[in-house]
Amino acid sequence: IWTDVLAYVRKNISEVEYHTWFAPVRAIGVEQGELVLGVRNSFAQEWFRKHYLDLLEDALRSLGAQSPQVSFQVLPAAQDALMLSEPPPAPPLRQSAKAPPSAPSPAPNLNPKYIFENFVVGPNNNLAHAAALAVAESPGKAYNPLFIYGDVGLGKTHLMHAVGHYMTERFPGKRVEYVSTESFTNDLINAIRDDKMAQFRNRYRSVDLLLVDDIQFLAGKERTQEEFFHTFNALYENHKQIILSSDRPPRDIQTLEGRLRSRFEWGLITDIQSPEYETRVAILKMNAEHNRINIPQDVLELIARQVTSNIRELEGAMMRVVAFASLNNVPFSRAVAAKALSNVFTPQEIKVEMKDVLRTVAARYGLPAEVLRGAGRMREVVVPRQIAMYLIRDLTSHSLPEIGLFFGRDHSTVMHAVSKVSENLEKDAELTLTLADLKRQLSGLDDPEN
Ligand code: ADP
Ligand code: MG
Repeated sequence: IWTDVLAYVRKNISEVEYHTWFAPVRAIGVEQGELVLGVRNSFAQEWFRKHYLDLLEDALRSLGAQSPQVSFQVLPAAQDALMLSEPPPAPPLRQSAKAPPSAPSPAPNLNPKYIFENFVVGPNNNLAHAAALAVAESPGKAYNPLFIYGDVGLGKTHLMHAVGHYMTERFPGKRVEYVSTESFTNDLINAIRDDKMAQFRNRYRSVDLLLVDDIQFLAGKERTQEEFFHTFNALYENHKQIILSSDRPPRDIQTLEGRLRSRFEWGLITDIQSPEYETRVAILKMNAEHNRINIPQDVLELIARQVTSNIRELEGAMMRVVAFASLNNVPFSRAVAAKALSNVFTPQEIKVEMKDVLRTVAARYGLPAEVLRGAGRMREVVVPRQIAMYLIRDLTSHSLPEIGLFFGRDHSTVMHAVSKVSENLEKDAELTLTLADLKRQLSGLDDPEN
């Protein structure tokens, strides 16, 4: 049946789409009207749900199913590795064959993707990485607690999980517990309600490694702080390793009890900064390889230039480019990437005024802002002027006559400018890039002076 479904799908979508999305899919269960598909990752899962559910159901219907049902499962990494065996034996298969067939059961709650091998080290995170490795190698002895702080999406959770994986692999008997501060709080509340404090304490105090994520959420929760204080002490006294993460250093967590704060400062405090350009490219490269997507280096570079501060968003941007290329049935190129990312910043996220746009565009072209509102008709002025009009139309809610008035022209001139620029966008990748760049610049103008 699955073969028939595939044949049906193939007839209805483009080749590129088919190869990007359907070639790596495995049918896990096929029964009359019910189809369970295994996909590579959660991104693919989402993507299938959003874009191919109807198509798959149609396919089943065409094969006689009355009420077709399709569900998706993310394949575990091992099965994923097996998929490499076709097309014909690739060298990576040897590697995966060497890995023990039943790997040591990983601690629950750990994301299998978050291992040291998948963590790209750069100047922004090398201290945190080194500290995490040291702790993983001699838990309870190197630094205790290890406190990692940094902005969201920079790899704190990844590093914590990596230590957890490392420990369960190296020391199979050791118990690892990963918990977000929120679930710690919820567990506590439930334990109190259900009169199960003994169980709660046992759970958190009998581990060899306790990972507590986003500890800043302890702020203001007195009962949780109290309980955590005792958990901390019990573990610490028994030389059990504790790793904490937060979006800020202990001293900046408001309403954190002094005794907790000082304990958090007993060990090592280390931070993670935003990744540099080279690190961003390296992360994208690794990600593409992991997802077995062949994206040219220059495209990855473009993405790394566009998304600068948050690694989760960086990965999202890459997936967006992948999705865009596949939907439009085009190969990866800088132009395609620029297009896919050009509306990452949606107008709602940007609050700008006409003069901001004017100033930014003028600066970009090395012109005084007022020249764009002047009478000049030279190409060097006309093009930036049109771009400014286009951006204002795109990013603000001003009407054509209002924009015209601002430039000392009538609304038809603005209309012409807007359509001219959109027309050029179709064929001019550089322009697409320039516009994306200008938008990004403008999105930073959240507090325009004057
Ligand atoms: P945080 O906990 O700091 O908010 P996460 O650990 O959840 O951030 O990381 C966000 C995403 O970025 C994850 O998918 C993670 O795998 C990835 N990531 C972060 N840092 C790195 C890195 N140095 N190398 C590779 N991937 C990274
Ligand atoms: Mg996190």
